[in-house]
Amino acid sequence: MSIAQNIQDITTSISDTVTLVAVSKTKPVAAIQEAYDAGQRVFGENKIQEMVEKYEQLPKDIKWHMIGHLQSNKVKYMAHFVDLIHGVDSFKTLKEINKQAAKHQRVIRCLLQAKVAQEETKFGLPFSEIKNIFNSNELEDLKHVRIVGLMAMASFTANSTQVKNEFESVNSLFTSLQKKHTKLTTLSIGMSGDFQLAIEAGSNMIRVGSAIFGTR
Ligand SMILES: *Cc1c(COP(=O)(O)O)cnc(C)c1O
Repeated sequence: MSIAQNIQDITTSISDTVTLVAVSKTKPVAAIQEAYDAGQRVFGENKIQEMVEKYEQLPKDIKWHMIGHLQSNKVKYMAHFVDLIHGVDSFKTLKEINKQAAKHQRVIRCLLQAKVAQEETKFGLPFSEIKNIFNSNELEDLKHVRIVGLMAMASFTANSTQVKNEFESVNSLFTSLQKKHTKLTTLSIGMSGDFQLAIEAGSNMIRVGSAIFGTR
């Protein structure tokens, strides 16, 4: 199956209120160009350096999303162009993004990464810390970042009930935060293997790699 066909199959199977992020990490520029030519405009990468190199070679109307774990010292390399940063999991990182965005007179949109998986290895903030960030007075001083929602990764398991429960728990945090913070728009959950489950649980942004570009 071609990249174009894969994108078409996915977009026709989801509502147009769900944003498809094509996860192009490790894939060559030619593969991204193919997806671009099929109409895809939002791409996700998990390494800043790799994203910068691709940004420089590809059309400038691409929206680049950073979906990987962030190293604060590298935020400066993407601050002039990144469209959305998914994996923010500390206040320190938020402050660094704010500082770098200010240098470019930008407001960078961010998602806080919530920890829902059972596994130790998954990054993310406990729900209590997410609430603390939203309630902190310091957040208002960060004029160059805007938290627009949450991101999470479910456990890597074949147990779909567990995955569903994890997605539903982050969705319930999201909807409860939305009551007080009406500008929250985005819930980024769901990947190649579980995006249908995620959408049923409230996702409106899915991050799909291998189902578009093939295995890595
Ligand atoms: C790689 C990656 C994806 C895409 O995974 P697939 O299973 O290939 O769809 C989604 N989200 C994050 C954070 C990733 O690192």
